[in-house]
Amino acid sequence: MTLPELTDYVSRHFARTYGRPPRWIAAAPGRVNVIGEHTDYNDGFVLPMAIERYAVMATDSAPSSSSISIRDTSEGVEPATIDLSLPVKPGKPKWSNYPRGVIAGCLARGINPGGLDVLLHSTVPLGGGLSSSAALEVCTATLLEAVTGKKMDPVEKALLCQQAEHEFAGVPCGIMDQFISVMGRENHLLLLDCRSRQTDLVPMNDPSVALLIINTNVKHELGSGEYAKRRAQCETAAKILRVPSLRDADPDALESAKNKMDNVVYRRARHVIGEIERTVHAAEGIRASNWPTVGQLMYASHASLRDDYEVSCAELDAVVEIAEGIGLKGGVYGCRMTGGGFGGCAVALVQAGTVEAVSKKIAVDYKTKTGIEAMIFSSRPAAGATILKG
Ligand code: ADP
Ligand code: MG
Repeated sequence: MTLPELTDYVSRHFARTYGRPPRWIAAAPGRVNVIGEHTDYNDGFVLPMAIERYAVMATDSAPSSSSISIRDTSEGVEPATIDLSLPVKPGKPKWSNYPRGVIAGCLARGINPGGLDVLLHSTVPLGGGLSSSAALEVCTATLLEAVTGKKMDPVEKALLCQQAEHEFAGVPCGIMDQFISVMGRENHLLLLDCRSRQTDLVPMNDPSVALLIINTNVKHELGSGEYAKRRAQCETAAKILRVPSLRDADPDALESAKNKMDNVVYRRARHVIGEIERTVHAAEGIRASNWPTVGQLMYASHASLRDDYEVSCAELDAVVEIAEGIGLKGGVYGCRMTGGGFGGCAVALVQAGTVEAVSKKIAVDYKTKTGIEAMIFSSRPAAGATILKG
């Protein structure tokens, strides 16, 4: 659904649920990271784009109430009630901790909307690595801005949402998801320096290309333990290289220190150092609409994540192999896993005119290879959070 269609849908759903039309509607997108994986906690660069999938919230004041009530349009989701007359703390249901954390952060900044009836609808797949969590957080913050008429600085807003995810949801995420959901712009990617937090919008206006997002629909459980190990290995490598973080190391320094570290640590560092370079080059390639180069960088990123960083899995490798098999002739410039790894999504850069044929081929071949149905959709780079009504 497009944003106007979503506005219409949640308006009607809100009226059915609460018996009156909504006064304010806000939306915030999910995201896909086009390149720059496992670079964020090494002070490196990431290059995400906002996707045309959104968390949307419609609301009206509930003058006789001191609570924010949130109902989800999905049948199975337990409604949440957040009492503003008490200090806002983590609570139940579990999913409510994302909005709770944001509401707590807003209240601490004097942004107090009073009692509200809220309807939530999200078109970002939950738990698929497309950041439905950041979309929900940023949507909540944007809704409270709309209701109170108080606007936050975008960086402060993104950091408030990140803090909510850390402290209320217990997820130690980086800054990428919230930054892109706040700051995304139509037809642009966002080059984000995770050290300085500087952001650079990278234009991607060429209508002849599109991004394809392929959800493998698998999620292997070793994720969080392996993530902690990778972080520790990167710290070990940085120590041996005598730099504050791998952002400060270059390939030559790594080669000359190769015999001082074990092979696994060496390969982890080689991925990170190479990936930071690839991300900067990919941003240049996108600015120049040099799609074959960007595509090659995506394939190289995948190979490095698979072989050196060892965070891919059979299903992600299958998608990338199928895409490589289709190749430039069939309209595919490049493909890679995206997100933390061990499942989740792959992202492919394709010629816009081939989106349907490529999607179909990947779906059929992926099913044959793995027995699993993939979920595939295309997206142009979308806008960040917006107030749709009010
Ligand atoms: P991702 O951000 O990649 O989708 P996460 O595990 O970080 O995966 O976040 C998913 C969680 O966010 C869900 O399990 C749920 O708790 C919460 N969430 C996101 N969107 C919604 C929604 N529309 N309704 C209820 N909960 C949601
Ligand atoms: Mg998330």
